[in-house]
Amino acid sequence: MNQTCPECKNELNLADVTNLKEGQIIECDMCGITLAVVANNDGNVMLEVADEGK
Ligand SMILES: [Zn+2]
Repeated sequence: MNQTCPECKNELNLADVTNLKEGQIIECDMCGITLAVVANNDGNVMLEVADEGK
């Protein structure tokens, strides 16, 4: 399952999405933003912007 970056709409290829845990950090390789996993309900992942990069 893929997720879409909330910042640049890049498709984040999360191969192990079902293994993502709350608090885990993902980096968008498109815009460099840092996203934190805030919830994962059976692969239904919610992401939150943790750091806008720069
Ligand atoms: Zn992005």
